[in-house]
Amino acid sequence: EYDVVVVGGGPAGASAAIYSVRKGLKTAMLAERIGGQVQDTKGIENLIGVKYTEGPQLAAQLNQHIAEYPVKVLEHRRVQNVISEGKYKIVHLEGGEVIKTKALIVATGAKWRELNIPGEKEYIGRGVAFCPHCDGPYYKGKKIAVVGGGNSGVEAAIDLAGIVKEVVLFEFNDTLKADQVLVNKLKSLPNVSIVTEARTSQVLGDGGKVIGLEYENRKTKEMMKVDLDGIFVQIGLLPNSGFVKDVVETTKFGEIVVDNKGRTNVPGIYAAGDVTTVPYKQIIIAMGEGAKAALAAFEDQMLA
Ligand code: FAD
Repeated sequence: EYDVVVVGGGPAGASAAIYSVRKGLKTAMLAERIGGQVQDTKGIENLIGVKYTEGPQLAAQLNQHIAEYPVKVLEHRRVQNVISEGKYKIVHLEGGEVIKTKALIVATGAKWRELNIPGEKEYIGRGVAFCPHCDGPYYKGKKIAVVGGGNSGVEAAIDLAGIVKEVVLFEFNDTLKADQVLVNKLKSLPNVSIVTEARTSQVLGDGGKVIGLEYENRKTKEMMKVDLDGIFVQIGLLPNSGFVKDVVETTKFGEIVVDNKGRTNVPGIYAAGDVTTVPYKQIIIAMGEGAKAALAAFEDQMLA
């Protein structure tokens, strides 16, 4: 039995576990993979106070930091479901283990939806990117594509247009789904062009990096190619919230709804990081949110 169980070992989970244990709470952390998305990241230049680091190095440092404390770490574990039973939460793991805790902090992160076309996986980090805030500056003076005409794609295109030389926005449908104010702003920019009714079919590379994108004009069925230095895929973020979606409130996108202290609508269940409604999915934000959820769990247990 624990005071706090943290599910997730990314920036949010690591931070929540350290803040919990430093408050004297008996803490366990369950994760499939310590480091989370950070493990898939190459250069990180926006974790303030750390000029430059790389994903695997940061993940190792998270691990070392946790190891300084008596946190029970259970790695390579996947949570199947959670049941709220009076003042306890019962966590069921795949494989049959059951863990009982007073507070549960969900920090299971999210995955960017991929195009699932040839070349995409191969060139991640070598021209294929998912995070404009993270990777935008690498493309200064270059020509890039943004794939996806929803709010995130159009926001990314506007944001990147201020950094790069030229942006081409690709949308599958015949109109952009984003809010009209964003579309108007996008259309006012001189270095942006928009291609609608485009079905992206292949990321083209030279073996080392991305050199273009192949797509089908869905109206004429013609196959087209465009030369590019980078491709930002913005077709959705999928929160890893499936195992709690019947327990806590989530949005239609699957984000767990939290208040400004990381509390969900169920007392004793908190959430932090990319899996939540908190805007801007970034390492520094996930760490801050993990700390907040842990401090809220402590405060609530102290007052109980
Ligand atoms: P995650 O890092 O996603 O961690 C989730 C954790 O939950 C993992 O440990 C996972 O194994 C575990 N988990 C998930 N489901 C279960 C389950 N059912 N049971 C048990 N465990 C589970 N951000 C920046 O600030 N700067 C950057 O330069 C940057 N570059 C990026 C580059 C790439 C390629 C990617 C993919 C992301 C990048 N990001 C960057 C975003 C950043 O990585 C995320 O915002 C951050 O990792 C979110 O932290 P998190 O702890 O909420 O979730």
